[in-house]
Amino acid sequence: MSEPILTRNFPLPGSHTLAVYRETGGYAGLEKAFAMKPAEITEEVKRSNLRGLGGAGFPTGVKWGFLPKGHPGPIYLVINADEGEPGTFKDRYLLERDPHALIEGMIFSAYAIGAHLAFVYIRGEYVQPWRIFSRAVAEAYEAGLLGKNIGGSGFALDVIVHRGAGAYICGEETGLISSLEGKKGWPKLKPPFPAIRGAFGAPTIVNNVETICHVPHIVRRGAAWFAGLGTKTQGGTRMYSVSGHVARPGVYELPVSVTLRDLVYEHAGGVPHGRRLKAVVPGGSSAALLTADEIDVTLDVDGLKNAGTMAGSAGVIVMDETVSIPEALMIVARFYAHESCGQCTPCREATGWIYKMARRIVEGKGRKEDLDTILDVARRGAGTTICAFFDGAVGPYISYIEKFRGEFEMLIRK
Ligand code: SF4
Repeated sequence: MSEPILTRNFPLPGSHTLAVYRETGGYAGLEKAFAMKPAEITEEVKRSNLRGLGGAGFPTGVKWGFLPKGHPGPIYLVINADEGEPGTFKDRYLLERDPHALIEGMIFSAYAIGAHLAFVYIRGEYVQPWRIFSRAVAEAYEAGLLGKNIGGSGFALDVIVHRGAGAYICGEETGLISSLEGKKGWPKLKPPFPAIRGAFGAPTIVNNVETICHVPHIVRRGAAWFAGLGTKTQGGTRMYSVSGHVARPGVYELPVSVTLRDLVYEHAGGVPHGRRLKAVVPGGSSAALLTADEIDVTLDVDGLKNAGTMAGSAGVIVMDETVSIPEALMIVARFYAHESCGQCTPCREATGWIYKMARRIVEGKGRKEDLDTILDVARRGAGTTICAFFDGAVGPYISYIEKFRGEFEMLIRK
């Protein structure tokens, strides 16, 4: 069993309080961080091979490096806590059980990128995490850990906690920024990327909760230690949200070099009731599905990419032999049809068409040409839209049909 890093405080009573966080070494590394030059922290994060853990998997230090050098105006740090990817619930645990870990991570990260104002955009449905996190922010201000002259360092950071209003697309970084600015949560065309022109027109770094929580550990224990926990191209551990047909669903923090088989069988207790495994979605609902024969794959970004799917948000959804894949596709398709923001024609129209076709197949009214039409519409739309939402939906559309076509055809024949 590997050493827990981000989840180590979870079992402690009062783990969400400043007192417990400090007792377990929290905020102790601030002095070391402030003694370093901001660019040294960015370099350390680069060398650690920390990658974004919200979905895109982009190298964090490299992203920070895109900020314009010597920018005369403000730079913002935005924490993406809009955890809406179906099958994913790990950031919720961090906000509820160790909110000071995020605050400390924000101080380190803001210092590194030169930001003095940070926003935390929390999913609207996360009422309890929002309450707990807001209380922790107030505690940090009272203790002089936020605001002016943090810990006597001369560095200042203010934090604004902002609640979303329940749209999946606000988890996309430019949609999130639009929403934060008080506008409709519509994604924007890139470039310019937020690092050049982000929130309120200023250079902005948007990072996921879990990603930022890793930063103080990297600074304290060194990039080499963190990189050594993972694979050649991705360092550290990550938190896997495991749901569906496993004996022990929950959040598991493991090195990214763990295999999907070990996660499902060794850690989550395997498929219960003597049933057989049918398929696993490894990275939230937007990831292509893997069959039971394809789970000997490491869960790092590149391992899953090479397997034809993606690490995404590490939301692992396990399906046993009782699951109807056409029904599962219908549910996923309904979600994407509902959540499309409607700006791009291929996404707005195709998500609706595909849901209708998937639904009629499940209802026994499917047509012979439906499967090829779904695949055709999905492939034609991929890569033509403003944001990655539609490309994400294409993963399940294609993989569910290609890997379980016989099941769909049987329903159509019936
Ligand atoms: Fe909106 Fe879909 Fe276009 Fe993204 S791809 S901007 S969700 S319509």
